Amino acid sequence: MVYSRVLRTLFLSSFVSFAVFPGTAARADETAPARDMKQPVDEAYSAKIRRYTTQPYFTSPLVDYLPESKTVPTPEVVLGDVAGAPGILPYAADVHKYMRLLEKASPRVRVYSIGRTEEGREMIAVAISSEENLKHLEENRLRLAELADPRTIKLDDAEADKLVAQTVPVYYITGTIHSIETGAPTALMELAYRLAVDESAYIREIRDGLVTLITPVVEVDGRDRMVDLYRWHLAHPRDFYPPLIYWGKYVAHDNNRDAMAVTLKLTENVLNTYLGWKALVLHDLHESVPYLYDNTVGDGPYNAWIDPILADEWQMIGARNVADMTKFGMPGVFTHGDFDTWSPGYLMFIAAMHNGISRLYETFGNGGADTMERTLDPEDYSRTWYRQNPPLPKTLWSQRDNNNYEETGLLTSLHYFNENKRLFLKDFYLKAKRSITKPGAEGPAAYVLPADDPRPGLQVELLRVLRKQGVEISRATAPFKVTLPPRKLPKSKQRNKKDKNDQVETGPVIREFPAGSYVIRMDQPYSRIADVLLDHQYWSPDDPQKTPYDDTAWTLGELFNVQVTRVVDPKVLDVAMQGVSDVGAHGGVSGEGTVFAINNNADPALAALRYKLPDAEILAAEEPFESGGKKFNRGTFLLRSVSRSRLNEVVNESGLTGIAIAGMPSTKTHPVRAARIALVHTWLSTQMEGWWRLALDDLKIPYDYISSQTVAKIDDLKAKYDVVLFPPVGWNPSLTAIVNGVPTDWGNPLPWKNTPETPNLVEGNDSTDDMRPGLGWNGVAHLKSFVQKGGVLLTATDTSNFALSVGFVEGISASSSEKMKIVGAIVGARLVDATSPIAYGYDEKVSVYCDNGPIFSLSSIAGEKGRRRPTEETHMRPTGRGTADDPDFVVGRQATTVPEEPKWEIWQVPPVTDEQKINGYRVIPAANQPRVIFRYADDDDLFVSGLVQGEKEIAQHPAVVDVPSGKGHVVLFSINPVYRGETRGSYAMVLNTILNFDSLNAGRTSDAGASR
Ligand SMILES: [Zn+2]
Repeated sequence: MVYSRVLRTLFLSSFVSFAVFPGTAARADETAPARDMKQPVDEAYSAKIRRYTTQPYFTSPLVDYLPESKTVPTPEVVLGDVAGAPGILPYAADVHKYMRLLEKASPRVRVYSIGRTEEGREMIAVAISSEENLKHLEENRLRLAELADPRTIKLDDAEADKLVAQTVPVYYITGTIHSIETGAPTALMELAYRLAVDESAYIREIRDGLVTLITPVVEVDGRDRMVDLYRWHLAHPRDFYPPLIYWGKYVAHDNNRDAMAVTLKLTENVLNTYLGWKALVLHDLHESVPYLYDNTVGDGPYNAWIDPILADEWQMIGARNVADMTKFGMPGVFTHGDFDTWSPGYLMFIAAMHNGISRLYETFGNGGADTMERTLDPEDYSRTWYRQNPPLPKTLWSQRDNNNYEETGLLTSLHYFNENKRLFLKDFYLKAKRSITKPGAEGPAAYVLPADDPRPGLQVELLRVLRKQGVEISRATAPFKVTLPPRKLPKSKQRNKKDKNDQVETGPVIREFPAGSYVIRMDQPYSRIADVLLDHQYWSPDDPQKTPYDDTAWTLGELFNVQVTRVVDPKVLDVAMQGVSDVGAHGGVSGEGTVFAINNNADPALAALRYKLPDAEILAAEEPFESGGKKFNRGTFLLRSVSRSRLNEVVNESGLTGIAIAGMPSTKTHPVRAARIALVHTWLSTQMEGWWRLALDDLKIPYDYISSQTVAKIDDLKAKYDVVLFPPVGWNPSLTAIVNGVPTDWGNPLPWKNTPETPNLVEGNDSTDDMRPGLGWNGVAHLKSFVQKGGVLLTATDTSNFALSVGFVEGISASSSEKMKIVGAIVGARLVDATSPIAYGYDEKVSVYCDNGPIFSLSSIAGEKGRRRPTEETHMRPTGRGTADDPDFVVGRQATTVPEEPKWEIWQVPPVTDEQKINGYRVIPAANQPRVIFRYADDDDLFVSGLVQGEKEIAQHPAVVDVPSGKGHVVLFSINPVYRGETRGSYAMVLNTILNFDSLNAGRTSDAGASR
């Protein structure tokens, strides 16, 4: 489904020259793809394959028959028909059942459990190879482990050659991570059968030469829901069927964007399997492009951290794959295309970042097992230089056709890979070796995370991500110094120095790090993944690729609000250090006293503490203070009525440090109460809010999960909730879509609930009799009255647009950018009001994730759109005597004094003019004005990482705003603070809002009269 591609690119940068592919020709002595005429064919099964294939050219000599076996069952035993048959989609458990039947029947198949999902379903990996290879699996794995970590053989190429000659590589295939792309499981069931049973020379060579490892269903939770929906569709053939609103427990399509932060079980399970088996390839199967787009070669810009050896391997494998299938006469097979290979967030990229080879197929699926007429867009059937035999504009297409393409592509790939396995094994070793020799080659030598980072909890979270990725972490046993290169100012600042801090450093800088600092050495086999996650990204605005496929930045140190120093100086590797296996945070309670203080550093663990200690009295200090020689930040937690032992237990596991102090400090405080939270989703999409649920669940912060339809039914939201979170819907829905949902004037209800046909739909998530109705005007009114009665409504990106367009607040408006391009990038934010509880724990500067706004503007007049930028240049004096700075001169009149023009910053509410004050009933009083907590940085400071272009449009505009309304507040985010498990540094902006829901006016200076 086209749906699977977040950004559909119309522009194909066809001038990048991949026209000459290396090593694509088959050698004359390669075994031809043909069946073994001596092995009997399963005639009945083969006849059905032919029947379900809609055109003779939608198949190949590799898959147009099925060999017969007396002992091994075909997929028919589980499916009741052949793989790819119309009307048949197996549940994950049926797919697994078949793989285990194969294991029982064939000594060439083994099934491994690789872990469970959030909903408890099992994931498996199936190994298929010769009996001989499977017998010696462990010895082979040890050889692969030596190639994967060349330090074990002292980087000795001759030793590596010996291992290469003896080793059988592992080729790992993963299916249906995207649940609406349904074809892979049956293709992989049949592929496993063929690999185990077929005696043709072509297949035998694959079996003897490789271990093929298969996870037939990656998203097992989503698969079962998708099969449910398909069964519902079969049972109600004349009705519209519900769209797959939930895939996994938390996210949909984004399950294939988790390979950096590794927050989902499916990512962790595949990552562990890939690393544990020391696989050379991770080949992930998708279905959104006709008929087979091997997006391995893709398009630029390539990820800048991959080894160029990998780029060459992509060309070799991709081009040969196309060549083989073209010779079969199969139309629509190509490898160059619009996928840009920049972000390492895709599941397959686990291989690219761990010295293997990432591959991805987009084949053509029907989103189920119906055979149907499919009509393509012109861009999909046009003949291009890289697609000489394009897909047909219109054709009857079946699930079997799709399975034929998937299996043929995989079999030719496996065969080619086996033919060239010595080369690929040597490359596997060389890429690992080059990862180890990185400090002396391109560098850097290491990244250092200082022991005195004010956010140890977030630092540990970042280190945990690196550990999951297989990265080795060391800890300095003594203080040490490194030399850092001089810091260069951006060119704009060199031209236009604003303040005295903007000095260009002329010489290198010596930086000292305390003992206990973490060192991520780059002389290790998995240095590449650490480098890509910790480094900064730069996507040139001049890049020929104008439509990035996904986010352009991910720098985790910035997004985690954790200090990370890139060190080029190789002497850092000589520092005394020890490897650490446990990066767990170790907090605790120290000191003597009756009150416990926990400093606020915007660590999300602090919010979790409130809910872990429901009976403790917790106060927040509204000003910084000192006690016992220690400095505490604004927002510091002060705890009473909690036992030291209980507190010690809780802070220890969260990595926080409690300090007992003599008594309550004299600073002003307010209570920190456990807010009752509702998290609202629409029935349009649940993915963006899914990341918010995941974050809250991880922190064990309880909330009610309700739909916009439920909001429409609850008359008094305030009686039930203190805070309503309305996270982004995604895809920037219109106000109409949020309020109306999908029209109910036609069509049938789209139920999302468990029934005998759909037993897996709901699990822990939400249900409804009809997904179509939206929030409705009742829902809008309920949210409005919730705020009026004192509730806090928090919105971000598109839901902020919603809140502003229905008029929940005054004095702020949102607009879209015109030419700006901030595409999933990291930008600078600046603290505007440090006294707001929303800002507790933050410094002056913080980096945040931004995807093109919206752009907020402020106004002091109710109902008026805010101006985008003060127009200070407009009031020039007229032509006259003197100079530009002289007052004008009127003949025959005494000179008058010109009143001072009001000046204000774009993140400030514009001052009210004298004229506006005349009968100023629309003038918003100070107490009702928006309070800007964070703003975007100045334009020359805005770029942190990624693609940032035309940034003047959003520079300095408000980024996080607290707007009073009635007795409550609407807190509006222009950024998305909770996203893909990558933005942990901005979680506390949301958590602070939750914890201080009834004291958000604390520190507010402009509204002495406002109620607290
Ligand atoms: Zn997909």
